[in-house]
Amino acid sequence: MPERPDLEYVVPILSERLVGRGVASAEALNPVVMRVAVLGDGPSQLLGASVEAVTRRAHFVVFTLSGELDLVVHPMLAGRFELQEGSARRRKDTAFVLGIGDGQELRYRDDVQMGKVYIVPRVDADRVIPGFASVGIDVLSRAFTFKAFSALARQRRDQVKVFLMDKSALDALGNAYADEVLFEAGLHPKARVRELSEEQLEGLHKAIKAVLRQARDTIARRQPELSEKVRDFLKVRNRKGQPCPRCGTKIRAAGVHGHDAFFCPTCQPDVKGRGFVDWRKLKR
Ligand SMILES: [Zn+2]
Repeated sequence: MPERPDLEYVVPILSERLVGRGVASAEALNPVVMRVAVLGDGPSQLLGASVEAVTRRAHFVVFTLSGELDLVVHPMLAGRFELQEGSARRRKDTAFVLGIGDGQELRYRDDVQMGKVYIVPRVDADRVIPGFASVGIDVLSRAFTFKAFSALARQRRDQVKVFLMDKSALDALGNAYADEVLFEAGLHPKARVRELSEEQLEGLHKAIKAVLRQARDTIARRQPELSEKVRDFLKVRNRKGQPCPRCGTKIRAAGVHGHDAFFCPTCQPDVKGRGFVDWRKLKR
């Protein structure tokens, strides 16, 4: 679930509720998501530590603990957090639980088990956690100028959607918001970065800022439950077959380098004609 706008909402809430709390219990309920980089029983080694900070780093949520170990969660596609009374029923997909005193629990849920919960010595985190060491330029910061963006883009030879999703370049866009940004910019997801004009790159830079800020603000305004995913305002993502909100053409889906991409073939034309062949047209 969580992409940048979701984490912008979730992380400050977790921080407010958890910082200063002690770890009263720690339970790994689903070994599939656990990545324990210490010898022995990882969860039990968190007991007695207190939460010093909760921060976002790319798509990771980092729980900085007193002591040598940190808890780092990469929620991937479907991971979500809950703060609950310990007495509240646990959902089946609850994968990891941290008791934080007063009978309260932080729960990490993941119904597709793609996320990862790392228990890792702080000094080893960069080395042990894939994608943790090199985080790209923060697209919601002042450092994300057009100059910085175009310098990055000019080094790329890949497809624009692949570039947008490279977290070591840009911090950070996932599958859903990459599609939304490309729709906003009117660019086909398979367009090659090096083929984009200066004007198209400028449009893309603006679209990244506008789409993520708007999403962040919309989610903040809606104030969903921590575990709830608010995506109903997205324009093309997961809307295959539905009319484009701008021109009415049916939204299409296609694979781009192992990811799915949703786009409007009219608003995001495949100018080079290499992406898709319309077999029906060829037959005529
Ligand atoms: Zn359209």
